[in-house]
Amino acid sequence: MIDFFSLVKDTNAYKIVRGEKSKNTLSHAYILVCSDEKCLNNYLKEFAKLLTCEQFDACNTCRVCNLIEKNRHQDIYFYPKTENPVNVEDVAEIINESIIKPIELNKKLFVINFKDNASLSVQNKLLKTLEEPPKNVFFLIGVLSEHALLQTVKSRAKKIEIFPFDKEKLFNALKNELTDEVSLERAISLTDGTVGQTVKLYNDKNFFSTVDLVAETLVNMNSSKNVLEYSTKITKLSQELEDFLSVLELALKDMLVSLEGKENLVQNKELLAKTKKATGFNVASLLYGLEKVEEAKKRKKANATNTMLIEWLLLQILEGKFKWQKL
Ligand SMILES: [Zn+2]
Repeated sequence: MIDFFSLVKDTNAYKIVRGEKSKNTLSHAYILVCSDEKCLNNYLKEFAKLLTCEQFDACNTCRVCNLIEKNRHQDIYFYPKTENPVNVEDVAEIINESIIKPIELNKKLFVINFKDNASLSVQNKLLKTLEEPPKNVFFLIGVLSEHALLQTVKSRAKKIEIFPFDKEKLFNALKNELTDEVSLERAISLTDGTVGQTVKLYNDKNFFSTVDLVAETLVNMNSSKNVLEYSTKITKLSQELEDFLSVLELALKDMLVSLEGKENLVQNKELLAKTKKATGFNVASLLYGLEKVEEAKKRKKANATNTMLIEWLLLQILEGKFKWQKL
């Protein structure tokens, strides 16, 4: 099991709610912002325990904590109940349930995971209850980004946020679950700081060959004679072409910020180190390359064939290099 409690307990978000709990000044509604789509539910559970467990910290051993973990506490409701987004029927149910007394606890908690798809009708329907909630009713709303919510909803709840974790924290929280330390370190070096993406990269060994091939292409593809060789290698990847394009975009962006001396904005040091030997790129040609990657993504959506698309893109990147070298 991934130790989400160890990750979450040192965050400012957790400290804020814990402090309010100890002072008996809990807000009736919190909005938890966290970009980790895969794990947002896990974080919401940790906060649900904190809001309802009788101990100062969530104890993770009492009946309430255990039932929350299994999503089976009668006074704590989790939405959506299926894979589909929360809908207006769910909100109608929340409103009805909120006026009925709790069964076991002295409060009711509604945990609503909107991710990034909270429809306007759903938010508007929830608004009045959020504004004047029945006594002892609490809300915990999860979103990937606060842009998912209407200003009117945001103004009725307290925002707390979980930011990406640093590498050491991720490593410590994941090492018992993801036991191959070398792969874990590598996955962490390529991640955006979320557990969800780290786990995905750890389990997806092909992803590393995509990273290597992106770097190899940028370093060694120096003439249009090489285009066919690399486009063949790229189309043979077991990865989706979209994944290749994302890694290529990341590589070009990191080369760009590094060239501009903004090392602190580099997202992926491993990939940047691999592209260090790439020659002939300057700010203009990198920007041109990034523009063409965007265009390739659009063409891909319009169902262009992979082989033609990659050949076209590699030629564009080369053309960009030569165009600005000549100036
Ligand atoms: Zn507990």
